[in-house]
Amino acid sequence: MGFDLLEPRTVAEAVELHARDGNAVFLAGGTALLILQRQGLPLPRRLISLRGIPGLDEITAGPGGGLRIGALATLRQVERHPLVVRRVPLLAEALRQVANVRVRHTATLGGNLAHGDYRLDPPAPLLVLGAQVRAVGIGGEREIALAAFFRGLFETALQPGEVVTELAIPPTPPSGGTYLKYALSSNDWPCVGAAALVALDDHGRCREVRLALTAVAAAPVLVRGLDELARGEPVSDRLAARLADIAAAQVEPVGDQRGSEWYKREMARVFARRALLAAARRAEAGPVGDGTKEPVA
Ligand SMILES: Cc1cc2nc3c(=O)[nH]c(=O)nc-3n(C[C@H](O)[C@H](O)[C@H](O)COP(=O)(O)OP(=O)(O)OC[C@H]3O[C@@H](n4cnc5c(N)ncnc54)[C@H](O)[C@@H]3O)c2cc1C
Repeated sequence: MGFDLLEPRTVAEAVELHARDGNAVFLAGGTALLILQRQGLPLPRRLISLRGIPGLDEITAGPGGGLRIGALATLRQVERHPLVVRRVPLLAEALRQVANVRVRHTATLGGNLAHGDYRLDPPAPLLVLGAQVRAVGIGGEREIALAAFFRGLFETALQPGEVVTELAIPPTPPSGGTYLKYALSSNDWPCVGAAALVALDDHGRCREVRLALTAVAAAPVLVRGLDELARGEPVSDRLAARLADIAAAQVEPVGDQRGSEWYKREMARVFARRALLAAARRAEAGPVGDGTKEPVA
C-alpha cells in the first residue's frame, strides 16, 4: 500500500498536519520505521517528514559551556561535531559505537530518543550528561528532563503529535566520562551499555558520580543513590564494586537474543564497575567540563 509523504517547512506546520490526522507519523531518518515495517508493522497512510524543516539539525554552543543539538542532526553529524568532541567527548565516544557508519549517517538523535527502544545506546550518555528534551506540540513548547522522558518499552513522555526539536546539554562539572558497550559483535545492539561520569575533588576523592545503563530494563536506567556512598571516598576497586552492586540492584532486564535476565544483570554489574573505574581514570588524567581547559579534538 502506498503512503502520502507530507513535507512541512516549519515545526508549527508539522504539528498542525498531525493535528489534522492523528494517525500520521513523523519521519526523521526513517531507520527505525523501516525496521518496524520489515517486522510486519504496516507504515501509516501519512508520513510527516521533518527533514525539510530548516535549522532542525543545527548544533550550537549553549550557555556556560553547554550544548544545543537539533533533533534532526544525524548521529554521525553529532559524533563528529567539534563542539561535541570538545565539550562532551563521552557522547561522541558513545555515538561512534552505534550500528555502523551508514546507519549513523541517516539516523537522527531526535528519532533515536523518540523511538523509545529499550536497547538504544545514546540515552545512557545523555542521561549522565543531564540532557533536556525540547518538544513542541499543539499546546506549545516544553522541556522534559531526559530522566523523566523514558517511561517504558517504546513509551516516552511525548504526547501524540509532539515534535522533538532539540536536545539541551547543560555544562558538565570538570569530570571524566566514558561509555562502554558490550555487544556480541561489532555493529550489534548492546547486550548492555554503561555510561559513567566521575568528578573528583582537589584531593582526588569523589565529588560526584553519575551512571546510566541501557538494554537492561524496559527503559534506560539512571542509577540512583551512588553519591551517598561515593562522595568524599577515594576511587578504588572496592568502591567501584559496591557502586556496581547498587546499579545491578536497580536494573530489571528482560531476556533477549543478547542475554538472559540473569546474564544481563551480571553484565550490568561488570560494565558498571569498569565504566566507573575508566571514568575516574580519565578524571584523574585531565577532566573535561565547565571551568577547565577544553582538550584539543
Ligand atoms: C541496522 C541497524 C542497526 C542499529 N543498531 C543500533 C545500535 O547499535 N544502537 C542504537 O542505539 N541504535 C541502533 N539502531 C537504531 C537507530 O539508532 C535508530 O533507528 C535511529 O536512531 C532512529 O532515528 P531515525 O531518525 O531513523 O528515526 P525514524 O525511524 O525516522 O523515527 C523513529 C520514531 O521516532 C519518531 N520521531 C522521529 N523523529 C522525531 C521527532 N523529531 N519528534 C518526534 N518524533 C520523532 C518517528 O515517528 C518514529 O516513531 C540501529 C538501526 C539499524 C537500522
